[in-house]
Amino acid sequence: MTTELKILSLKAWFPFEGDKLIIAGPCSAETKNQTLQTASALKDIKKVHLFRAGLWKPRTRPGSFEGIGETGLNWMSEVKKTTHMPITVEVANAGHVEKALANNVDVLWIGARTTANPFSVQEIADALSGVDIPVMIKNPINPDLSLWVGALERINGSGINRLIAIHRGFSTHHEEYRNAPHWEIPLKLKTLIPPLPILCDPSHIAGSRKHLFQIAQKAMDLDMDGLMIESHINPDEALSDPKQQIKPSDLADFLENLELRSSTSSDVSYLTELEELRSKIDDLDRSIIELVSQRMDISSSIGDFKLDHNVTVFQLERWKEILETRVPLGASKGLKDAFIEELMQLIHDESIKIQLTRFR
Ligand code: PEP
Ligand code: MN
Repeated sequence: MTTELKILSLKAWFPFEGDKLIIAGPCSAETKNQTLQTASALKDIKKVHLFRAGLWKPRTRPGSFEGIGETGLNWMSEVKKTTHMPITVEVANAGHVEKALANNVDVLWIGARTTANPFSVQEIADALSGVDIPVMIKNPINPDLSLWVGALERINGSGINRLIAIHRGFSTHHEEYRNAPHWEIPLKLKTLIPPLPILCDPSHIAGSRKHLFQIAQKAMDLDMDGLMIESHINPDEALSDPKQQIKPSDLADFLENLELRSSTSSDVSYLTELEELRSKIDDLDRSIIELVSQRMDISSSIGDFKLDHNVTVFQLERWKEILETRVPLGASKGLKDAFIEELMQLIHDESIKIQLTRFR
């Protein structure tokens, strides 16, 4: 996949103190007091740069709290006036965009359910044509990198070049979290669009306060550009996502405790040792490729051999035997079952393809 996006670097349009952009605020604006009290507590945390609150809430089932709607825009404007913090709200259609723009919202964000729907994203892109406002795009709920890229392309196509991606996890199964992080997906996005800032939303990944810190720390260790965290003045009483929100006072400690590492070090001994370790990896990769190539040569001979004897390529029993022996072998070397299964699957798929070419 390739893509050409015109993206402004974050610091060029959002000069904030510190290295990481921190967005915080309640999942939903519920009442004027709750919104203003949360904002005023967050304002005192110097590390919080942008205030968020959801006004139109995309809910899985009707009948649960679906957001305060347009009324909340007045409260958000008041937050801006009293705290001087810039504000951001979620938009899911052209009507939301229009109302947010009319109320001087500083940054818009597109939620995960909306990103998954190209019709909605295009509707928002059309509503933004000729408008110069920053837009943050959460990953789609399904683990599909191209849907995420597609949404970024659609919004960028409307001339929006102040873009941020937000990683909030994917609704595939995870043992402990509400949404599976699939960390490889935001990393692939970074590889594909290097200038695009990527923030992590540990609140929606975790789904509970318990896992919040470890996820945020991991995002920092992966060199993400900041965090969007849900914070509520009285989380237990929150009308949406009560289990994952934290009090502003806890957020202050949370941010204090985050360990920020630099993306590189000029320490000569670090650089020398890293170089040595990398050269070992280079050698090992060469050996892996050499071995895989030898294995494929044998597959090719097996293909000829099966053809000579008029035998089918795919042999279920053999494939089962490979998995049943390689997985425990990997485990005995400290490698995860799922990793070995995936690796053997890839190798086996290629081997089958190679054998089939002999049959043509
Ligand atoms: C939210 O940020 O409150 C929200 C609804 O998030 P998401 O789109 O990631 O589910
Ligand atoms: Mn939420």
